[in-house]
Amino acid sequence: MPNMIRTKTPMPEQAPEQRIKNFSEVALGYTKENALLEAQRCLHCKNSPCIAGCPVNVQIPDFIKLIEQGDFGAACRKIRETNSLPAVCGRVCPQESQCEAKCVRGLKGEAVAIGRLERFAADFGTGEGSEAKKPALNGKKVAVVGGGPAGLTCAGDLAARGYKVTVYEALHAAGGVLTYGIPEFRLPKAIVRQEVENLKALGVEVIEDMVIGKVLSVQELFGEMGYSAVFLGTGAGLPSFMGIDGENLIGVYSANEFLTRVNLMRGFDDDYDTPLRPFEHIAVIGGGNVAMDAARCAKRLGAKDVTIVYRRSEAEIPARLEELHHAKQEGIIFHLLTSPVKIVANEKGEVSALECVRMELGEPDASGRRRPVTIEGSNFTLESDCVIMAIGTSPNPLVPKTTPGLETNRHGCIVADEATMRTSLEGVYAGGDAVSGAATVILAMGAGKTAAASIDELLRGKN
Ligand code: FAD
Ligand code: SF4
Repeated sequence: MPNMIRTKTPMPEQAPEQRIKNFSEVALGYTKENALLEAQRCLHCKNSPCIAGCPVNVQIPDFIKLIEQGDFGAACRKIRETNSLPAVCGRVCPQESQCEAKCVRGLKGEAVAIGRLERFAADFGTGEGSEAKKPALNGKKVAVVGGGPAGLTCAGDLAARGYKVTVYEALHAAGGVLTYGIPEFRLPKAIVRQEVENLKALGVEVIEDMVIGKVLSVQELFGEMGYSAVFLGTGAGLPSFMGIDGENLIGVYSANEFLTRVNLMRGFDDDYDTPLRPFEHIAVIGGGNVAMDAARCAKRLGAKDVTIVYRRSEAEIPARLEELHHAKQEGIIFHLLTSPVKIVANEKGEVSALECVRMELGEPDASGRRRPVTIEGSNFTLESDCVIMAIGTSPNPLVPKTTPGLETNRHGCIVADEATMRTSLEGVYAGGDAVSGAATVILAMGAGKTAAASIDELLRGKN
């Protein structure tokens, strides 16, 4: 008999007052008892609508059944058949809008906690024979540019098919946003490092501190380096700014820079020589997940107050509900229907205040959301010594600019055929945020998988 409790088995969490003093994981993960109880909520529906909601078609009821049977290694292997990063996806995928949105249990109560079970299977099942074995090499070489989820997935799938794959990563550690963007308290970096190690065990070579388009060009990868195909998974790491006065002042960061200093350069960790300058009053501009991550990091670094400044109302806030909820629990202040107009300097050229204006919502705009309209004369200032801009990013133009014939669209995204991820250049494939613009980990992984299959067809002379 399935467990007919209508709500998800709660996730054990660190208490807010405790967790704002550390960078350890907020969600502690299911115990075996939690996982068994939650697994029993699955009805094992014949048509499994949840699978259709998963961008990489994880066989959800099958892996849940294996958890129910207590075979966690097999549950993890089942997920890894289609998803090479289960410990990552179980933690950061927006399940509420994917698999869990389709779950039948959601019709009368809450969906099965598929993400939490995926995380459990990965945490308890990894190391129990769930890793892929190193295949024999087929003599062909492929270069992957960018070591984020798109590049790593493409590399893993090609290595599993016998290709000699080299990942070229610009930063000093692979993982892309998983390493430099998503904070330790949502995704421990040891997990990302382990996934990179698993790829190396499959034979993938990872060369860090290597910027393609500067040190080596895409053409040189084909020419003197002898690769037969190239995958571009260079992400969307170019930050946007508002174009208001004061954006060049000392104490203004893009969210990308701020998060890179905290996560990749371990600015929070006393054992590292790259601390962040301490700030007391931090304003974060934007209402997405990136803004929440930056605000929650700022809080943990000891700021007296951290304020999110967002121009629409809470109903339009794009961040995941869980992130918003956690940010509120941690004491982040929200100035909604508010837009910055100017960053004010002190005599040393440092940020001293943020001038804002109040907004109201007008008619819906092209995105379908109500357009924020300025309330004239409503200006006020917020005391701030640091302003973090989290209003979006776009693809870095370096590779397209240095690769003649590589087509991009008006947003700077590389143009690739959705079914094959082929670009305008023979032998060059692309996927992830570099093609879609800022999206999600699982979509980037899906694109990496599609590209690997197409590259395999190309190199076996099939396309
Ligand atoms: P990236 O992860 O950006 O990786 C690209 C890699 O390419 C980087 O390592 C970069 O250094 C490297 N690179 C770039 N140019 C070059 C070059 N010229 N030569 C060599 N290497 C290069 N998604 C979710 O699903 N859930 C979340 O909770 C979530 N939270 C997020 C939080 C933050 C702060 C951010 C910024 C994004 C978040 N996302 C989240 C989005 C998700 O992380 C991205 O959609 C995903 O990482 C895209 O993967 P990618 O491989 O295409 O690019
Ligand atoms: Fe189980 Fe929900 Fe999928 Fe049905 S839809 S098989 S209840 S996870």
